[in-house]
Amino acid sequence: MLEKRSSVELYRLKKLIEELESKEGRGTELISLYIPPGRPIADVMSHLREEYGTAANIKSKSTRKNVQDAIESIMQRLKLFKTVPQNGLAIFCGAIPRGPPGTEKIEIYVIEPPEPISTYYYRCDSRFYLEPIKEMLTEKEFYGLIVMDRSSATFAILKGRRVEILETITSGVPGKHDAGGQSARRFQRLIELAAHDFYKRVAEHAEKHFLNVNLKGIIIGGPGPTKNEFYTGNYLHYQLQSKVISVEDLGYTEEPGVYELIEKSREVLKDVELLREKNLVQNFLELLAKSMNYVTYGEKEVRDKLEKGIVKLLLISSDIEKYRVKFKCQSCGFEKEVTQEGKLVIVRENCEKCGGIMYEEEVKSLVEEFIELAEKTKAQVEIISTETNEGKILLKSFGGIVAILRYSSE
Ligand SMILES: [Zn+2]
Repeated sequence: MLEKRSSVELYRLKKLIEELESKEGRGTELISLYIPPGRPIADVMSHLREEYGTAANIKSKSTRKNVQDAIESIMQRLKLFKTVPQNGLAIFCGAIPRGPPGTEKIEIYVIEPPEPISTYYYRCDSRFYLEPIKEMLTEKEFYGLIVMDRSSATFAILKGRRVEILETITSGVPGKHDAGGQSARRFQRLIELAAHDFYKRVAEHAEKHFLNVNLKGIIIGGPGPTKNEFYTGNYLHYQLQSKVISVEDLGYTEEPGVYELIEKSREVLKDVELLREKNLVQNFLELLAKSMNYVTYGEKEVRDKLEKGIVKLLLISSDIEKYRVKFKCQSCGFEKEVTQEGKLVIVRENCEKCGGIMYEEEVKSLVEEFIELAEKTKAQVEIISTETNEGKILLKSFGGIVAILRYSSE
């Protein structure tokens, strides 16, 4: 069963990948390890011990030490797992420089990926190897495809950029040249009956292939009027029928038709992705106009409502470039949180209680702070891009943070 991933999950993974992409080792000393599900931990451990031994031959003393330290860290982490999780594990580990030579610190990132890892992979390089996990990000939506005419129907699933052809069935509906000596009207009647039977079969196969898959939409295509007859005749299971987003005219059938259909529907697919975001923001704007007490917006107000646990749905822009910094006083332990534009802490105030020095305890993106607040109170979260006008309005007019409340705040 293909599961739909939430916008929060995708956002977090995207951010983490961006961060990992920016890291570079001083030498060839950053380790990327992809472990597919089902691989025994003991096998991975013995492979890592081998790599540890091989690393002893590295000429540069600091690189050798950093590689061996990284391998050790990974092994320490793996000890915490009895078995590899259901989608496998992706581990990135290495010595990341903080400043001049000697300031490197071992960092380790252990990710349970959103989709199963297919191949075991170990690489030691000056950068992390992120392609396999980036590929998972692009494969976020699944679409069902039906390409049909009077003689055949082909079923396929589009997974991001990959397409999986499932099956082609043939109709046995006679063509015009088979008419023989029968009267034209009688023959026409037979063709229609056969076509009706074929449409029913197409619907049955669609049900078999698509009903238990979490599809974002279904696209039907083919040459001639057949696909339209099939669509307007409501042959599909009602749950599938309601997912049809487009019916396209094609020159080909079967596999070539599937590829033609994908090409033709690129624009449609992009629009569907964004349509959801548009609708979420529009829904907020309508509520704002109609019943103001059920919505709120702006960083301070939404945080307040989240803390009170009365937010039902949080919409937050993925393009907010702000950070939440938690300061703690070294002397008296007093804590304070502030929002700032960049990631680096520039202003360090003195403690307002005792005058002591405040140190930053934690820096996180404002988006992440709000996601965590929402998760604590079981508020639904949707991350909104700025690719639509609505997304731009959300960011520019509302600071990128709005909420729909569980009940009136007045
Ligand atoms: Zn203090």
